Amino acid sequence: MLTLENINEFFADYPIKDIDCNHNILMDYEKIFKIYDGKFGYLSYLEFKSSDDSEIFLGSYPMNGADLWKCKKCGKLKFFYTETGGHFPQTLSVDVDFNKKYLSDPFAKSVSIKAEKYSDFITIFGFSELQNPEKIEKFNGIKVIDKSKSYIFGYHEFNGDIAFNVIADKTTLRKIYDFENS
Ligand SMILES: [Zn+2]
Repeated sequence: MLTLENINEFFADYPIKDIDCNHNILMDYEKIFKIYDGKFGYLSYLEFKSSDDSEIFLGSYPMNGADLWKCKKCGKLKFFYTETGGHFPQTLSVDVDFNKKYLSDPFAKSVSIKAEKYSDFITIFGFSELQNPEKIEKFNGIKVIDKSKSYIFGYHEFNGDIAFNVIADKTTLRKIYDFENS
């Protein structure tokens, strides 16, 4: 079974790599895999990459909301995702790049907690930068990250809620999701 964690092996073993497909996207393609698994809440629109462009983060917008589709006639693989940045959403497709490594961690998550749970959050999860939120980098542009580290971007307080985006491994994000809902 195809999973986020074995997707590179799946691509390495996939027999059809460089092929031009002239088949009909609406009629001839079928969805074979969904990247977003819903286990840690809302999608984040945060976009990030490493300084080394040989790797693609599946956990970065827009890949975090992409699906992998396969042409039933020729086997061509494409990612499809919805771009929401413009005036209206549009579906875009991008070929799988078999020369790149697709990373299944870290992911971005948007977090929203009640202000009274804020100090508990810092105690449990760390993220010492939350003690000086005025220094947290804003949510804008493409963030260049070190994949071995965790990050907070875009801090907001509104009506007793505190919201920010976290980049971390999926296990940590699931724990944060449980904390949000506890
Ligand atoms: Zn085709």
